[in-house]
Amino acid sequence: MIKSQIYVGIACVTCFILGIMAGYLPGYYSVQSQDDGLTQVSTIDAILNGLYDGVITYGDLKDYGDFGIGTFEGLDGEMVAVNGDFYQIKADGVAYPVDDDMTAPFACVLFFDADCELPVWEGTNYTQFQDYLEGSIKEQNIFHAVKMEGTFGYVKTRSVPGQEKPYPPLVEVTANQPTFEFHDIKGTIVGFYCPDYVEGLNVPGYHLHFITEDRTAGGHILEFDINDAELSVDYTSELHIILPNTEEFNSLDLTKSKKEELEEAEK
Ligand SMILES: [Zn+2]
Repeated sequence: MIKSQIYVGIACVTCFILGIMAGYLPGYYSVQSQDDGLTQVSTIDAILNGLYDGVITYGDLKDYGDFGIGTFEGLDGEMVAVNGDFYQIKADGVAYPVDDDMTAPFACVLFFDADCELPVWEGTNYTQFQDYLEGSIKEQNIFHAVKMEGTFGYVKTRSVPGQEKPYPPLVEVTANQPTFEFHDIKGTIVGFYCPDYVEGLNVPGYHLHFITEDRTAGGHILEFDINDAELSVDYTSELHIILPNTEEFNSLDLTKSKKEELEEAEK
């Protein structure tokens, strides 16, 4: 059976003409491949509560995307996936290839297929980048993946050391996170924008990871400064969530807002 999904038509100003050429108009429905949806593993509040057990193997997760970010069983580092290659950036800052039998307690992946390319300028930092994209993109209530490839004057990342049970909450782990600084570095920034209403489920706003061009280092992005880069955006109006159906997850109190803890842990 050929599977298909109805998607809300997508567009940004830059993509409008391309959209017409491609045969769809913004605001109308268009049939796209099921592969265009974003797949998320677990919820960010489960991670904030210290649920670091793997939910799905990376071998299986690859069926849902070739691009994305995440972490590993026991919170053992930051995951970056680009062009179908998955990497684990451990607490030593080094990128290791991910084995298919490793597992993800949290991840976001999709099959990256750019809808739009946007110009970026030298000297733009992370805060300016977020303001710029939020100002340029009309699709504030759907999800988008961002891929930015090029040279960066500065990138600051962090990773997290693997934890033993009983797992501490994420804020306790990130309080002692190792950070890494790169200067005049070539690489790729990989990540997602999620609308504000995802609070509790995912990270509202931007969540970006970095991998160097030689695929040896990277991490969760804390700051960057663009030299010369190309930015592509992939919109999606479909979200698929794989939840851990465990006693631990089902007995968790997820009614309280963890907004402040998330700010502290991610920034
Ligand atoms: Zn991250």
